[in-house]
Amino acid sequence: MPGTIAVIEDDPALRRVLVRGLEAVDFQIVWAVHDGASALGRVAAVAARPDALVLDLGLPDMDGMDVVSALRDRGVEAPVLVLTARDALPDRLRCFARGADDYLTKPFAFAELAARLDVLVRRRRPDAGGKAIALDPLRFRLGSGGTAVPLSPTEYRLLATLLVRRGEVVRRETLVCSAWPPGAIVRENTLDSYVTRLRRALRMAAVDARLDTVRGIGYRLN
Ligand code: CA
Repeated sequence: MPGTIAVIEDDPALRRVLVRGLEAVDFQIVWAVHDGASALGRVAAVAARPDALVLDLGLPDMDGMDVVSALRDRGVEAPVLVLTARDALPDRLRCFARGADDYLTKPFAFAELAARLDVLVRRRRPDAGGKAIALDPLRFRLGSGGTAVPLSPTEYRLLATLLVRRGEVVRRETLVCSAWPPGAIVRENTLDSYVTRLRRALRMAAVDARLDTVRGIGYRLN
């Protein structure tokens, strides 16, 4: 069970896609609202507080960044993943400075959203299921502190996809779709060499994980 999620997005079509898509990968949607005031109303009930929030930056009643500040003021510590069409670095940095935890620019790959949310939820519950793999989505690093191992963005996306389906076989095509841009030509041995690098990174980070090859199908993170 990956965790409970709240969605704040004013575009009804995108809100529906988010809710259905996240439910399809086993997240539980606790509520989905169209503006900041409704979101702040929902979190007033502690029981309605999710493990993580997906927040659109451009809302009809307030700026998404003000929603993040207001959530933090109300003691909501759940990680916030911001969705936005803005992708300028100053905007992104402003988001983090205001207490957001991660950032995705629209249009985004749904697999990446799910993988990033899973990382945020797991990071918040570090002792659920033994030694957790901690991914740092801002700096693309595995682990934390002095022992953190840097990953390339592609390695990061691959590992995040494997992590969200930990224990399951993830098909090669799924991994390629989640880690490379649409339409990229990725040769068989390219994926294999990335997996080799990920195994090395897992060893270097000394995390309790094993990346198995399932011949002819894909890979499984155990
Ligand atoms: Ca919007």
